[in-house]
Amino acid sequence: MDKVLLTTSKESLQNVDPEISSAITDEQKRQQDNLVMIASENLVSKAVLEAQGSILTNKYAEGYAGARYYGGCSCADRVEELACGRAKELFKAEHVNVQPHSGTSANMAVYLALLKPGDRILGMDLSHGGHLTHGSKVNISGKYYHAFSYGVDQKTCMINLEEVREKAHQIKPKLIIAGASSYPRCIDYEGFKDIARETGALFMVDMAHTAGLIAAGVHPNPVFSADIVTATTHKTFRGPRGGMIFCRKEFASAIDKAVFPGLQGGPLMHIIAAKAVAFKEAQLPGYIPYQKMVTANASVLAEALIGHGFDLLTGGTDTHLVLVDLRSKNISGKEAETLLEEVNITVNKNVIPFDPKGANDPSGIRLGTPTLTSRGMEPDQMREIAALINEALARRHDQEHLKNIKQRACSLCLQYPVYQ
Ligand SMILES: *Cc1c(COP(=O)(O)O)cnc(C)c1O
Repeated sequence: MDKVLLTTSKESLQNVDPEISSAITDEQKRQQDNLVMIASENLVSKAVLEAQGSILTNKYAEGYAGARYYGGCSCADRVEELACGRAKELFKAEHVNVQPHSGTSANMAVYLALLKPGDRILGMDLSHGGHLTHGSKVNISGKYYHAFSYGVDQKTCMINLEEVREKAHQIKPKLIIAGASSYPRCIDYEGFKDIARETGALFMVDMAHTAGLIAAGVHPNPVFSADIVTATTHKTFRGPRGGMIFCRKEFASAIDKAVFPGLQGGPLMHIIAAKAVAFKEAQLPGYIPYQKMVTANASVLAEALIGHGFDLLTGGTDTHLVLVDLRSKNISGKEAETLLEEVNITVNKNVIPFDPKGANDPSGIRLGTPTLTSRGMEPDQMREIAALINEALARRHDQEHLKNIKQRACSLCLQYPVYQ
């Protein structure tokens, strides 16, 4: 008989599982060696990583602080109370639930709390920048609910509130959803709120992408306008991978019941601890300058790309991301994504509104600045990166020149290390 396998020994990951260990090591190198411009990604601090990798993962804490279904929850209660207190203060909210495992879970919990199957919802069209969970046919939100969508104006590529108003009056949805995954402009939450009031709809904002900008006051706070606000903690916000829901007191009990026991079992206490750490970091003096730099960098990147003859949707950005329409450059989004990956620039292909091509090989790419800014990069580096992107696309058949571009990307990465 072999000895009982205990977990109390100090065997390192490398010894226990060299395959996973080497995949993580290689991933760390990939993050270090590439200019990551995925708009929904960021880099968390060592403190967040430490909390996330902690022994809190061992604890079951179904329920909420002070009302758990398991014994031994006093430390878990402290963690969750700290997380909730900090989140409410940061976003000036009456109530928060920090248990959703992801942005998607947060949205599902809201629907479960507020809607019955078959109820009408009105959200932004996925192909115009909305999210799968806002009523897409392939998502549960479009299967269980009767989903309608609004898009952007064909000329300006911006949300036209009059069009939203007209649709809302026609459809009379139970819930109107504002928020997007690839929309580079501010959203007029107060305008949406008026439409919801006029039509008797509830109003939800999904600030998954912009939560960090909002926490820093760089963007208007939808908590003042919406009945319910959902968010992720891992995009601009710069915390661990997860979701959260803010609401007024009147919806608190329904939301909490929808998250648990409606949709989830035990909360991820290690992630909630890491969320609490990220909420604390968001109140440190450098956080507002960080988020200001994120948007400043995106603006400079936008200007520089326009200078190189790129077409940007809406002509620029108010946020952390830009959407590039590549049709004038005679290259598809997929080709550009692959090409840029070869020169160590990581981007994602993206549909553009009214895209004549399909989602598998769309006409655009989406570029974001949160990760680069977390490494310390500033407008000068954005200009350099815009030049690299331009050269890579313009001289894509010149292998020698691509090598040179890759070297310049790598040298930027070396200058701005990810984790020292
Ligand atoms: C990213 C995103 C989500 C989903 O977040 P996950 O954590 O990936 O489930 C939801 N809504 C919007 C608008 C998003 O951009």
